[in-house]
Amino acid sequence: MTYEIVIGLEVHTQLLTKSKMFCSCSANYASAHPNTHVCPICLGMPGVLPGINEKAIEYTVMTALALNCTIPEYTKFDRKNYFYPDLMKGYQISQYDAPLGKGGWLTIDSNGTRKRINITRVHLEEDVAKLWHRGDSSLIDVNRSGVPLMEVVSEPEISSPEEARDYLIRLRNILRYLGVSTGNMEEGSFRCDANISIRPSNSKKLLPKVEIKNINSFKAVYQALEYESRRQGEVLDEGGELVQETRGWIEEAGTTVTQRTKEYADDYRYFPEPDLPPLILDRAWIEEIRARIPELPEARRDRFMTQYGLSVYDANMLTNSSAMANYFEDCIKLMSPSKAKTVSNWLSGDFSRLLNATNTEIEHVKISPKHLAEMLGLVDNGTINGPAAKAVLEEMFHTGKGASEIVTEKKLSQISDATEIREVVKQVMANNINAVSDYTSGKEQALMFIIGQVMRATRGRANAGVVKEIIIQELGGK
Ligand SMILES: [Zn+2]
Repeated sequence: MTYEIVIGLEVHTQLLTKSKMFCSCSANYASAHPNTHVCPICLGMPGVLPGINEKAIEYTVMTALALNCTIPEYTKFDRKNYFYPDLMKGYQISQYDAPLGKGGWLTIDSNGTRKRINITRVHLEEDVAKLWHRGDSSLIDVNRSGVPLMEVVSEPEISSPEEARDYLIRLRNILRYLGVSTGNMEEGSFRCDANISIRPSNSKKLLPKVEIKNINSFKAVYQALEYESRRQGEVLDEGGELVQETRGWIEEAGTTVTQRTKEYADDYRYFPEPDLPPLILDRAWIEEIRARIPELPEARRDRFMTQYGLSVYDANMLTNSSAMANYFEDCIKLMSPSKAKTVSNWLSGDFSRLLNATNTEIEHVKISPKHLAEMLGLVDNGTINGPAAKAVLEEMFHTGKGASEIVTEKKLSQISDATEIREVVKQVMANNINAVSDYTSGKEQALMFIIGQVMRATRGRANAGVVKEIIIQELGGK
């Protein structure tokens, strides 16, 4: 039996506001001592009144607009009631039937085709406290409680683990372009719950779905969905029945395990939050926010393809982060659009390798676009060759010095002077009589060996073209 996979994703994103959602405590708790960013409101004390963080509303509206959602005339907050130690007041302020954004979409590129995934809703709620389980006891840190948490819910239109990963990467890129979230999955500011069900390929009937929680990396999302679609298929193949439940992803074991059977929305006894008025957003304010939305990854990717003639692969690589795309365009401004492919190759090659190897964000890189342009100029005018350019890039990366300065300091400039090269060639030939006789008796590969020896003797600085020409002349002009 073959099955179709049906996946819907719920993504929770912490917003980059200075203060929390309903109080003035700092939302920047990452390196704070536990329970230091707290007040009676986020501690859930009785008798306190929440106030709405305007910036959080603005960021949510901006995200909803960027995801092509409609912003309803009327929205409100609701109480979601449940009892768990991470929730101080016994309810979470969330949005139920009147979210800030409704009915949008984003597109993904899967296997070379563009696919639209519809977005059901974008709403705003508050994060809960963090529990630390240690042996028999649990510790609680309330710093996270009340941090603005935006939820983006997709329609169940994702058909494979690959598409799920593409969707998450696209969504995160959009959030980062907007500057509303760090989108950092490992730090928990971008969290994903996945709903997955399968159905026989010839059927339209939906089977019970499983919700997978605790997925904290793109790789884990992919693996968890891959595992779960296989498991559900095996249950059906063996004549078993699937049940609607919540399962947790166990990274080390590479499996999902049952956590609890699914609660239904009714279990939460939602009702309008009585301490907060409904939100009637000023339409002019919404339009003002819309006008501030920057060029988004997809539009920028398409522009890079038409404006600079880049491939879809290169354009995607450059526009996955706005910082990288800005860096690229800053370089091109100093050079010429015809150098786009060269710049793109350097950025995706050695430049990215150095960033990754040293875990450096491009925002903090010591090589300025001016220095990179200068280095490429030195390659173009023959001052340095390819291997020297790599060495210069690495030195610029570590020291922040200019390319010319490094070339002078490290004596990296290319030797193109024929007299100087001829001397080295003669020396190498004298030291490698066997290779010379191999070549004269017809072994072509001996030439490469001699060229290699000359490059070595000049520490890679000789102009390889000139070297080859002179060797052939010295060997009797072939
Ligand atoms: Zn507080």
